[in-house]
Amino acid sequence: MSNKCVKCNFSWFPRTEKKSAQCPKCRTTNWDGNSTKYNFKVIEIGHSRLYDWPEPLENRPRLFAALNSYSRRSGRKFYCYPESKGILIKRIS
Ligand SMILES: [Zn+2]
Repeated sequence: MSNKCVKCNFSWFPRTEKKSAQCPKCRTTNWDGNSTKYNFKVIEIGHSRLYDWPEPLENRPRLFAALNSYSRRSGRKFYCYPESKGILIKRIS
């Protein structure tokens, strides 16, 4: 089954069973058009913010993927504290 990017219309065959983290062409992480935008840059150092869990359950890794890619891009570091109603994300640097 091939993937298709909603942003640039590029189609590709994923190499693994895992959902592709980004479009190989335009690099958007929201290539399937249904991931929620997470605004991590509003978190100040030493502060934390609670984010709702993405639904359904299988979408939870997307939040971590988004956080990881933001962390890499920005050079900022975060800790995650999973809770029942959401995930508490604390910026440590
Ligand atoms: Zn694309």
